[in-house]
Amino acid sequence: MRIVTVVGNRPQFVKAAAVSRPLRERHDEVLIHTGQHHDDALSAVFFRELDLPAPDHELRLGGGTNLAQTARMLTELEALLGAARADGPVDAVLVYGDTNTTLAASLVAADLGVPLAHVEAGMRSFDRRMPEERNRVVCDHLSTLLLVPTPTATANLTREGLGDKVVDVGDVVTDVTLHVHPRARERAGAWLGARDLAPGGYLLATAHRAGNVDDPARLTALVGVLEACATPERPLVLPVHPRTAARLREHGLEERLRAAPGVRLLDPVGPLDFATLLVGAAGVLTDSGGVQKEAYLAGVPCVTLRDTTEWTETVDAGWNVLVDLDAGAARAALDRPVPAERPPLYGDGRAGERVVAALERAFGGA
Ligand code: UDP
Repeated sequence: MRIVTVVGNRPQFVKAAAVSRPLRERHDEVLIHTGQHHDDALSAVFFRELDLPAPDHELRLGGGTNLAQTARMLTELEALLGAARADGPVDAVLVYGDTNTTLAASLVAADLGVPLAHVEAGMRSFDRRMPEERNRVVCDHLSTLLLVPTPTATANLTREGLGDKVVDVGDVVTDVTLHVHPRARERAGAWLGARDLAPGGYLLATAHRAGNVDDPARLTALVGVLEACATPERPLVLPVHPRTAARLREHGLEERLRAAPGVRLLDPVGPLDFATLLVGAAGVLTDSGGVQKEAYLAGVPCVTLRDTTEWTETVDAGWNVLVDLDAGAARAALDRPVPAERPPLYGDGRAGERVVAALERAFGGA
């Protein structure tokens, strides 16, 4: 098979790391990086630390509004996919998750008549105000093959009439986590100690959803939640996403947050450092999809700064609480007891191999 994979941002590099290696053992992959994230901290460090092959084509299409960015991607990806087909048959376009890159690659594949396979299909927050939700729905409905991580995703797609295209492969992020978390645990004592953090003695936070940082009132509420949860005795470490950093500066909130007792702002960190911060944390506050699940896999209680989640199993299992931007609810959620059970909800770490097997069955294979 010859597969054109299109990725563009941080969570997609993590997911592609699980699939590219087994795919390339038997097949050809053309890897296109749209550059939705293109700096070292959000891109190159992921390729280095997760052993991802270098992209065959690396564009610089980050920045701008969602629509302007997607429009630029459409033009560039149409040309690149056309060129890839001129070099030889393309059996499928492979996309991940729910970003502008996912949406643009899906529309281009559909328009050029190339079959589309979607990894992490079927996730739904049922909140169409989120660009991610719109991207997922469009991508799923244009796909030939829907590779889902959970039975919840299968049920969502079946309700939308897409059940016959679904293959439950398990979660590709689990594959990566099973490699990275043991390394993180090994280095955690020394790494955290060098940063004056005690294992189990601090909180880790991330926040970058448009719904939380683009609106000044919501952003102010977010700052309030982080301030309320941090104390000098239990500091809160926040690797700041560039979008959030820009909004904090724009609205004059960066200094306030920096000055809050116990709050420690960092630049975004690479995947190994992030995993190290995660496995040592007493709790996680986040609006990220991936981080909610990684916290579950690490056995760290999570507080989600949204009122919906796609990873509903983490909530049902008692490891995740949705508090939106309610500071009191966040503090209470952090102090709750940890559940005794943590069932294996997200696969066995071999999802990448199952993705390749499903592609082979669907598109011809070796
Ligand atoms: N991550 C990281 N460094 C950071 C913050 C996050 O390596 O400073 C990783 C995290 O482990 C997860 C992914 O980035 O694998 C999540 O990305 P993000 O929150 O940007 O995307 P989402 O999951 O919300 O789509």
